[in-house]
Amino acid sequence: MSEPLPALKVTEPAMMPASGLRLRADVVIIGSGASGAVTAYELSRSGAKVVVLEAGPYVRSTEFQEHAPTALETLYEDHGNQVNTTGDLAILQGKCVGGSTVVNAAVCFRAPNQVLESWITEHGLENLSPEALEPYFERVERNLSIRQNAPHEVNYNGQLLIEGAKKLGIAAEPTTRNVKNCALSGHCISGCRTDRKQSMLVTYLPWASELGATILSGTQAETFEVRDRRITAVNATAVTANGAKKPVRVEAGLVVVAAGAVQTPLLFQRNKLGNSSGQVGLNFACHPSLAVFGEHEQNIYAWAGATITAHAGDIENPLHGGYLLEAGMVGPVVTSTWVDGGLGSDFLEFMQSSKKFQAAVTLIHDHNVGRVYLDGGRKRIEYDIDDQDFEALREALRGTARIYFAAGAKRVYLPTTRRTTIESASEIDSVIDGLRNGRHLYRLTSYHPQGTMRMGADPSRSVVGPDGRCHDLDNVYVPDASLFPSSLLVNPQLTVYGIASYVADRMLARG
Ligand SMILES: Cc1cc2nc3c(=O)[nH]c(=O)nc-3n(C[C@H](O)[C@H](O)[C@H](O)COP(=O)(O)OP(=O)(O)OC[C@H]3O[C@@H](n4cnc5c(N)ncnc54)[C@H](O)[C@@H]3O)c2cc1C
Repeated sequence: MSEPLPALKVTEPAMMPASGLRLRADVVIIGSGASGAVTAYELSRSGAKVVVLEAGPYVRSTEFQEHAPTALETLYEDHGNQVNTTGDLAILQGKCVGGSTVVNAAVCFRAPNQVLESWITEHGLENLSPEALEPYFERVERNLSIRQNAPHEVNYNGQLLIEGAKKLGIAAEPTTRNVKNCALSGHCISGCRTDRKQSMLVTYLPWASELGATILSGTQAETFEVRDRRITAVNATAVTANGAKKPVRVEAGLVVVAAGAVQTPLLFQRNKLGNSSGQVGLNFACHPSLAVFGEHEQNIYAWAGATITAHAGDIENPLHGGYLLEAGMVGPVVTSTWVDGGLGSDFLEFMQSSKKFQAAVTLIHDHNVGRVYLDGGRKRIEYDIDDQDFEALREALRGTARIYFAAGAKRVYLPTTRRTTIESASEIDSVIDGLRNGRHLYRLTSYHPQGTMRMGADPSRSVVGPDGRCHDLDNVYVPDASLFPSSLLVNPQLTVYGIASYVADRMLARG
C-alpha cells in the first residue's frame, strides 16, 4: 500500500467571487512548475505567507487520459502547438498546476561539472560550483525519491541501447528517475495517472499547500505595479472554463517569477522591466532533440514499459561535442510524426514495422543563439540550429546509428522531413556526412527551453545576479530554467529544482 498523498488545495477561477480577489502575502510566486513549486514549499516552510499564481488549469491526476493528443490539448502551453518562428521546431512546455513537471519524462541528471565550471569562468558564478550545489541536489534527490532504474524497469529497447553502446565502448546505463514504484505504463508525457511520478503536483505543491500556501489556478500574471526598484503588486486575470474573467491582485514584499524560459522574459518585456543589460529574452537555448529508429528482425515494442529506460553517450563532456541518447518511444501514433513514415501502403508497412523499432531521442549542448520577444503583443521564439550545433547533432545521429547497427538493427530511419534511411553499418558515414543544416529539414522537438534571463555576476551582461535576484530590482527573484547561462546537455529538471532550492535559501538568508 502506498502512503496517502498530502492534500493539495487549489483555488480555481470558478471558486472566486465575480469581483475577483485582492490578496496580501509575504511572497507571490508566478508559475507552479519545477522552480515555482520548490520555492513555494521552501518559503512556506520558513513560515512565510505564500501565494502562487498559475496560468494553467488544475487537472487532477485521475483526469489524465494516457492519450498524448488529449494531454497536448489540455496540459501543454499553446495546446502543444508552441513553435519557433521558422515553424520547424516544436517547443513543449507544461501549462497546468505543476507545470512541465506534470508532463515530463521523469529523467533526472545533475548539471554536468563541465557546464557548472564554465559558469564560474565565464559568468562569475563561483557560488554554483558542483560542491556548492551538492547539498541542494542531495536534498531534492531525497525528497523526490530519485534513483536509478532497477533491472525490471529497463525494457528491451533500453537493453538494446546499452548492449549496442557497450560493444562500441560508449558509456551507457539505466537512467535515473523521480518515480516511486513505477507502473511502467509509458505515459509520463500525458501525466501520471497513478501519482507515482514525483512531479510537483504530488510533492512540493501539496507540501506547500499543507503549510498554508494559497495556489490559484487558471490565473495568469500580466502586469506589475512598480515603485522605485520594487514590484509592489502583481495583477493577474483568472479565467473560468466558460470564459468569465476575474481580476486578481496580489500585494507582496517579495516577487518570484518562475514562469519558465519563454514566459518569464515575456512578462518582463511586457512590463518594460529589469532590462538595463539588454539581455532579457536573449540567449535562448533549448536542447533541440531528434528521434531515431532502428528496425530489427524481432519485435521490440519500444513503447512498452517506462518512458525512458536507459541512456548512452558522453555526458561528462558537453562542451566538447558530448551528446546524450535516451531510449524511449511514445507509442506508434506519435512515432509516425517523428520520421517520414511514407504514404499509403508504404505508411501501413512502416506502421506494421513499428513494433520492431529500437527508439531513442538525442540531446546536445546547444549554444544560446535564440531569443524570445513580443511582436505587436504576440509571442515569438526565434531559434534556428546554429552551424556548430548542427555538427553536434550530426555526431549524435552518427553515434545512434552505430549503436543501433551494433545492437543488430537492419535499417535506421533518420528524423529528416523527407525519408532518409541507412541500410547498413557501412553506409553510416556517407549518409550522415551528406546531411546539411537548414530550415525544415529535420523533425525537431525541444523539451527543455532555457537561458532567456541569464544569471551572472556582471550586471551589464546578465539579468539575474548570482543569488537569483534581478540586478535591476530589489525584491524580485527568478529561479526558473531561464537563468541558466548556458544549456546543460542533460535533462534540466534536477538542476532547476537544485538551483530553486539554493535561491530560496538566499531569499531566506536576506530575511
Ligand atoms: C514533454 C516534456 C518532457 C520533459 N522531460 C523531462 C525529463 O524527463 N527530465 C527533465 O529533467 N526535464 C524534462 N522536461 C523539462 C522540465 O520539466 C523543465 O525543464 C522544468 O519543469 C522547467 O521548470 P520551470 O520552473 O522553469 O518551468 P515549468 O515547469 O515549465 O513551469 C512554469 C509554469 O509557469 C506557468 N506560467 C507561465 N506564464 C505564467 C503567467 N504569466 N502567470 C502564471 N503562471 C504562468 C506555466 O503555466 C507553468 O506551469 C520535460 C519537459 C516537457 C515539456
